[in-house]
Parts: sequence; C-alpha cells; structure tokens
Amino acid sequence: MGNRPRLRDDLRELAGYHSPQVDVSVRLNTNESPYSPPAEFVAAWTDELARFPLHRYPDRGANALRAGLAESLDQPANRLFCANGSNEVLQTILLAYGGPGRRALVFEPTYALHAHISRITATGVVEGERDTAFRLDPDAVTVAIDEHRPEIVFLCSPNNPTGIVDSPATVRAALDALDRNGGGLLVVDEAYGEFAPWSALELVSDDVALVVSRTYSKVWSMAAVRLGFCIAPSWLVDDLDKVVLPYHLSVPTQIAGRLALRWRDEMAGRVEALVHERQRLVARMEAVPGMTVFESGANFVLFRPGIGSAGAPLNEASGANPVADAGQHLWEALLGKGVLVRNFARWPRTDGCLRVTVGTPEEDDAFLSALEEILEP
Ligand SMILES: *Cc1c(COP(=O)(O)O)cnc(C)c1O
Repeated sequence: MGNRPRLRDDLRELAGYHSPQVDVSVRLNTNESPYSPPAEFVAAWTDELARFPLHRYPDRGANALRAGLAESLDQPANRLFCANGSNEVLQTILLAYGGPGRRALVFEPTYALHAHISRITATGVVEGERDTAFRLDPDAVTVAIDEHRPEIVFLCSPNNPTGIVDSPATVRAALDALDRNGGGLLVVDEAYGEFAPWSALELVSDDVALVVSRTYSKVWSMAAVRLGFCIAPSWLVDDLDKVVLPYHLSVPTQIAGRLALRWRDEMAGRVEALVHERQRLVARMEAVPGMTVFESGANFVLFRPGIGSAGAPLNEASGANPVADAGQHLWEALLGKGVLVRNFARWPRTDGCLRVTVGTPEEDDAFLSALEEILEP
C-alpha cells in the first residue's frame, strides 16, 4: 500500500500493553481470582440471558446494575458509573477531564495503564516518586501537586505492583493540594480495595472532586466478563455519561454484574481466605535466604531475590545491574518449572522485583517449591 494513513504523532513512540500470556500450568501473573465464580451464579446468569430479547439494545444507562451496586455500597445510584472493565472507566475519565494541554500525575512505580491511557487520550503525564520502600507520604503528594499543578492525580491503593495501601492522610493531602491549586480531580484506583483495611469510598461526596474506581476482574472472579465501575460525585457521573459511547455495556455484562451481588457474602469469604493464604505465602518466602518481600494489602506480593542468589551463572549483561539480573534469572528459572509470575526485574525503580499473585493453596505450593528449589539448591 502506497499512502498509509499517518498515526497521530504523539502515539508513534507509544508501546502497547505487554504482559506475556504464556501457556503454563501455574499462572500467577495477572492478579485474578484463582477461583471461578459460584456455579449457582453462572446458572442464574445464563438462565436470565437466555430469556433476554437479544435483538434489542441494552439499557443504555445500565440502571438496574447501577442501582444494585449503589445499594450494596450504601451510595446514591447517581454516583455510580459502569464500564467495560475499570480500564474503560479510567479512559472515560481521561476523555472527559484530560486531553491536549492537560496533565495527569502518577506516583511511580505504579499501574502502568494510568500513564498509558493518559497518553492515548493525549493527556500529558508527570511523575512523582514513592520512597525506596514504595511508600507515599502526604508531604510527597503535596510537593508533587504544588510543583506540577495537574488536572488529574492518580493514586492506586493497594498499589499495583507494590501492594502498599495509601493512608487516609495521603489521600486527604492530595485532595487539599488540588483544592489549593485551583481544582483538579483525584482518582483512587481501588482494583484491590476489597483487601484493604480502609477505602477512599468513605470520602466520596458531591462536594469533593474524588473518584474511586473498582472492578469485577479480581475479587469477583469475572476478569473474562470485563466489568468495572466507579463511585463519584453525581455531576462527574453526568459528565462521564456524555463522553462514553451509547450502549457500550453489553446485556451479558450488565446481568452478570447485577446478579453477582447476591453472592457478596461468599466473595467476602474468599477475600478472607486469600488474605490468609497470602500470609502463609509471605512467611515461606521470607524464609528464603537473601529474599526481600514487600508488605502487601492485596492478593499479590512483590519480592526481590538477593544478588547472585539464583544459582546458575548469568548469561549476558552480568555485572551491569546484578540486582536486575538476579530477578530476571529467577523469573526465567520459575518459568522453566512451569510457574509464571509477573516480571518487573528490568523496570525502572523495581530492579530485580517479581510479583506473584496469591493462587489456590496447590498453585502457591508449586510456586514455593519451585522458588526453594531454585534459591536453596
Ligand atoms: C487489574 C487492575 C485493574 C482492572 O482492570 P479491569 O479493566 O477492570 O480488568 C485496574 N487497576 C489496577 C491497578 C489493576 O491492577
């Protein structure tokens, strides 16, 4: 083809989303629930779907889903907005409040899609830093907001990939600093919020420029369905409704989200069991010589092996960054034993780090045995 259409200049250098989807027996790399949804839920869902007139468009406002979620969260229904995964929620927020000439502030290291979706929507990205233990204190947030004066600030609590839960003081500092600088929107991504001891949800009101986003992809065992939502001031929800495509949320998705709420107690039980399992995992990992395990308030754990601890010699680039090499080598060795974890070893700020999702006890045992075999030969 001679004359191809030209990609937007600002997208030329953009890399896509990279997380290897490898077919191995133990997949602990994307933080989903290790359990499928309850069988009774699947039966109720397919039953209702079978009776739906599929030639008709879905309810554009997803009103039944919104009402159900609102009730379960003790919020007014006009503070709920739903979309195809919380990533679409974030994209809609950026389409409405970001764009050319505007900036989004992220605190690295954090969820890569906050910066990525900002760039896709032509929103500038500015960075603040977490400390070496990946903590974010209120003063650091205030300084970064005063310096960059962003239109949007992203927090992620518990933070992916570090697992750290931001304190109420940190969230309040962000809201205060935005207010002092003439306004701006705080987005708290709580994809793992069900695991945390507190939620920014309690600060949402029509008088505060705060959005809390959540997802059905993790605790709710429905990553395949693609459903996320946010709780926000009602005026902000009105703005998102203007921007999002009509009929974006399919009928199967809307029904799934609404029906799933009947299994809330069972999901709460799963959260408790996963937290228990995480504690078991952390205890065994901490016993491995040279291992650093970061504190987590989520269903995953970030860890870093000691330098040169991975046994086998390093092939290339040895010595250039031994910390990163140790992590890279361990990731490869785990994969060789059929265990896939997420590799952050060569990312800036997380040198040598890997992230493991809490799985079933059997999956976690397979991971722990592999880890111990590699690092304690
Ligand atoms: C997994 C994850 C999400 C979920 O995205 P969906 O589009 O809802 O699947 C959002 N934010 C963070 C930080 C995540 O880790």
